[in-house]
Amino acid sequence: MPADPGAAAVAGAGDVRRPALVISNATVFDGSGAPRFTGDVAIEGDRIAAIAEGGTLRGAASIDASGLALAPGFIDVHTHDDRMLLDGGGMAPKVSQGVTTVVAGNCGISLAGLALQGRPPQPLDLLDPAGGWFRFPTFEDYFAAFERQPAATNAAFLVGHSTLRAAAMDDLSRAASPAECRRMCAAIDEAMQAGAIGLSTGTFYPPAAAAPTSELIELSRRLTACGGLYVTHMRNEAEAILPAIDETLEIGRACGIGVVISHHKVAGLANHGRSVETLARIAEAMQQQPVALDCYPYEASSTVLSASRLSMSSRVLVAWSTPHPECAGRDLAQVAADWGVSAEEAVRRLQPAGAIYFMMDERDVQRILAFPETMVGSDGLPHDASPHPRLWGTFPRVLGHYSRDLGLFPLEVAVHKMTGLPAARFGLNARGRIEPGAYADLVLFDPATVIDSATFESPVRPAAGIHLVMVNGTPVWRDGVATGERPGRVLRREER
Ligand SMILES: [Zn+2]
Repeated sequence: MPADPGAAAVAGAGDVRRPALVISNATVFDGSGAPRFTGDVAIEGDRIAAIAEGGTLRGAASIDASGLALAPGFIDVHTHDDRMLLDGGGMAPKVSQGVTTVVAGNCGISLAGLALQGRPPQPLDLLDPAGGWFRFPTFEDYFAAFERQPAATNAAFLVGHSTLRAAAMDDLSRAASPAECRRMCAAIDEAMQAGAIGLSTGTFYPPAAAAPTSELIELSRRLTACGGLYVTHMRNEAEAILPAIDETLEIGRACGIGVVISHHKVAGLANHGRSVETLARIAEAMQQQPVALDCYPYEASSTVLSASRLSMSSRVLVAWSTPHPECAGRDLAQVAADWGVSAEEAVRRLQPAGAIYFMMDERDVQRILAFPETMVGSDGLPHDASPHPRLWGTFPRVLGHYSRDLGLFPLEVAVHKMTGLPAARFGLNARGRIEPGAYADLVLFDPATVIDSATFESPVRPAAGIHLVMVNGTPVWRDGVATGERPGRVLRREER
């Protein structure tokens, strides 16, 4: 509660001007993790103007939110939305969940930073299976395109290491030469000056797997002066996960920068249960240096289709295939049986393709999600024909399934993991909190009914229980329908 709950005036004392909108009698979750309270929230322009005791504020318009929860708009810290933000920009998979800000350019893959004819190499093709979208050689070019035709949500951007390698190198199967490193450093400088918030890497994937730690440190030093983050899909999330965590921590220490471990998981049957070890290592490191992490609330992962992951998975679903689009959504084992071939041969025939792998232990998923510092990121893949349901379901699933139904943590904590915590870790000022002066990025939902509807069988379905979503004070989703408004902004790195 504000110190003076009777402070209903929006402007100075004696000013009788009413705010444009008051959301009244809402159960307010302010994003800090503090206990919920019943209150009125006044919105003026793109900001929250005032907060007061329930039933005390009057606005030119009002919404009675009795029985509903009002939270800061959710921040999806791990996305591959670079192209969806430009491609129509309606962002339905995100706004339907209450997401008002996305962080794009993850896993070493940014759409900006590379101009290319034709298809990009895997996994850059996750953004662009058909080719033609890698046409922004600089971040300035990309931001200009965004701002000419804004998206429904706000977005902050990472510059992708694999994208830079594809732009700077003719052979991605080796370490970068000194000249190639200089070229990538110049590209990072450009991106950070334009307003990117950090560097992402995906050393798990072929375009970056040959990059030694020294290359990553040399590039990441460009982030030190400007306070950029190092955000990583680590080299290994299976048997060698501890050395991969140690490499990430080493890069952070060497450069004096914060690191973010993306979609933290322990993959493969042989590694089930090892989140006990990984979280202990991360918690210990947090005493010494800034470390953050995120995860998505599912026991299946999704990325390019690769035979190397078959033995680690109990089940594999085809998410998309260029030569065999009819296989999207089918079990790989069934496809192989129908064709009378081995799973490995089916993988070969389906290429290029994407897949969903059931390779995690639900107990690890819950342990990681419940870890106090873990943020929520969907890792949704918006261009897959039959996407992982995390694209449409992540945030309501944490609220409804994990918090309300399983009682993994209180709703205050669930909201904090998707609002105040990521805003602090990613430096998104005046976002992720309900307080006077903060941007009016808001979601109004029913805590009794909010739940994900997307499933592995039927993955493209808006969640239930999300009533109203506002971005910068403008409604983008109302009663199950997108409003068509596109008030989103590029959230540039604050000058430090
Ligand atoms: Zn990734």
